[in-house]
Amino acid sequence: MLVNDLMLNAQQKISQLHKEINQYNHQYYVLDQPTVPDAEYDRLMQSLIMLELENPELKTLDSPSQKVGGQALKSFSQITHQLPMLSLDNVFSIEDFYSFVKRIKERLNTDKKLQFCAEPKLDGLAVSLRYEHGLFVQAATRGDGKVGENITANIRTVKSIPLKLVGISGEDYPEILEVRGEVFMPKSSFQALNKMALQRGEKGFANPRNAAAGSLRQLDSKITAKRNLAFYAYSLGFVSSMDESGGEAEELMAKFFAASHYDRLCQLKTIGFPMSPDVRLLDSEDACETFYQDILSKRNALSYEIDGTVLKVDDIDLQLSLGFVARAPRWAIAYKFPAEEELTCVEDVEFQVGRTGAITPVARLTPVFVGGVTVSNATLHNQDEITRLGLKINDTVIIRRAGDVIPQIVSVVIDKRGDNSKEIIFPNSCPVCDSMVLKPEGEAVLRCTAGLFCGAQRKEAIKHFASRKAHDIDGLGDKLVEQLVDEKLINTPADLFTLTEIQVSTIERMGKKSATNLINAIEVSKQTTLAKFIYGLGIREVGEATAANLANHFQILTAIEKAPIEVLQQVADVGEVVAKNIVNFFKETHNLEVVAHLSAVMQWPSVEIKSVKDLPLADKTFVLTGALTQMDRTEAKTALQSLGAKVSGSVSKKTHFVVAGDKAGSKLTKAQDLGIPVLTEEDLAELLAEHAIVF
Ligand code: NAD
Repeated sequence: MLVNDLMLNAQQKISQLHKEINQYNHQYYVLDQPTVPDAEYDRLMQSLIMLELENPELKTLDSPSQKVGGQALKSFSQITHQLPMLSLDNVFSIEDFYSFVKRIKERLNTDKKLQFCAEPKLDGLAVSLRYEHGLFVQAATRGDGKVGENITANIRTVKSIPLKLVGISGEDYPEILEVRGEVFMPKSSFQALNKMALQRGEKGFANPRNAAAGSLRQLDSKITAKRNLAFYAYSLGFVSSMDESGGEAEELMAKFFAASHYDRLCQLKTIGFPMSPDVRLLDSEDACETFYQDILSKRNALSYEIDGTVLKVDDIDLQLSLGFVARAPRWAIAYKFPAEEELTCVEDVEFQVGRTGAITPVARLTPVFVGGVTVSNATLHNQDEITRLGLKINDTVIIRRAGDVIPQIVSVVIDKRGDNSKEIIFPNSCPVCDSMVLKPEGEAVLRCTAGLFCGAQRKEAIKHFASRKAHDIDGLGDKLVEQLVDEKLINTPADLFTLTEIQVSTIERMGKKSATNLINAIEVSKQTTLAKFIYGLGIREVGEATAANLANHFQILTAIEKAPIEVLQQVADVGEVVAKNIVNFFKETHNLEVVAHLSAVMQWPSVEIKSVKDLPLADKTFVLTGALTQMDRTEAKTALQSLGAKVSGSVSKKTHFVVAGDKAGSKLTKAQDLGIPVLTEEDLAELLAEHAIVF
């Protein structure tokens, strides 16, 4: 009873694995659009092989473990291979490689070291190329190993494939010659192709292997021609003389070709076939691990994608004695690299605020080992990326980590989405300081607007404020800023001005003298110009030149703080985006508080730039009287002075205008007596606004 149960259980598991693997085979081989990473596929295949080993009576001929690839597409004419095109068995560790060597040595009944032809495992698709009398006549894909697709027209467009061989057919190579190898897409072409696809709003290919397969299996060869495919040969296929059947193929092979696999590849090279420059002949199985490690270390620098090495017994006679199993030769093994793509789950999405205020969604993942490290987070960049992926919380995703490149979510496995998936909601306020967040027009990134206040941005804000082109605080380098912030001695640039020598000298390696020098330098930095001050605030996209233009135009800080977008746009160099950045910066109350503290300690020069006679109100004398409501007297005075006006304390015949606020007294009466024009506060505001000063 128990045994029957176990069998039933194994039977169910096997059927389930057949179903899943067949579905993945179809997506990968037929549609060129895999939905799960190779590592997941390999695991399923491994489970199937193990179950079949434990229950041999459940192994069927139609098991995916017994089959090669997928069925040829009916839209192509079909080609039956005269010699089957097989797959390769895999190992993932040196121990498993040695088990493979042990097995073949047992079969060969030898304990001598074996020579290996070691090759990179190219990640493209296998093709068989047929030449008759040295001319290319036909090409086929591997298909299911027995029948492939006729891709002759498309192969003609692959520049590295010779259409005519070097040498004389029948003398230097057989009259009918099939050469097998891999068509692949160089990494740069794959990236360019996918970039274009994304620009057109299309999906793109998952990897260069699928891109190569998708490009080669096109009904219109003009499309293939545009795809920049390449080819490396790695074995011979069927050979014959024109009037002989395939029966004598082995003899013919021996007649024309060397008895070493490596030498045969070199021969193919001399008649015109490209061969990978990384193929090596190794003296013994012990050299295979070094070869593997060497290729692995080169992997990222190679111009094409590889997913392991292929180690082939070099001696052709030994290859013939070893023969084949259902889907692979016994004399070769793919020693694969650790997976660069894996499946995992997005458990949550959190939002990080960067040094410049950019708010980045970060996926918290179920930890997964991929590309040689355990990965538990992946940046999602911005809303557009989430939309592109169609990602929700609790989704199963493919995560990729190749070389030193940061881990990236490649795609969502929609089939595995459960009922617990949740939408990703972006925050309405900054997750660090709770200030206003905005997504500037034309930008994909959401930003915190409290640049001067936000905890995430404070170190950068202070470094920028103290930098040479801003307040130029001598001795306040980046490291010291970080220490002062870490020690919680300062939070914003304004706190610099309340620092004491005693506080500064508590910082590691800060002597008394350095502390005194720093405090003095901070004191000196109070003498600044409006341009440097504006630049020092670190408003997005307000560089030195824009800051100088703003200062020159408005002359006083309050005017810049209050200027609406249209007025700001009158300033040279200030377009809509910069104007909005300025408005948003001063809209944030946290920034305004810091700016108020700072401006209270600054010592401005009175008028900075233009000579007074060039200014619009030059030669005009104003008297201010009564209480103003929108601005205070000092502000009004500075504003008028910035336009060249004189502001006098008493009314005389030389006075041109009197500005009368609430409860104006004797000065107003005197102006009326002398017939001097009297302006209300509104009139003054209008006059100032005409010159882009707004209160
Ligand atoms: P394979 O890619 O593991 O190995 C056989 C192939 O390697 C050959 O057909 C040939 O095309 C290629 N190859 C590259 N360099 C070679 C060289 N120097 N010498 C000889 N052959 C070389 O086997 P396969 O049967 O093509 O595919 C199985 C693999 O494909 C799986 O292990 C898995 O990684 C992947 N796959 C993934 C999915 C998926 O859904 N993600 C589905 C099916 C298959």
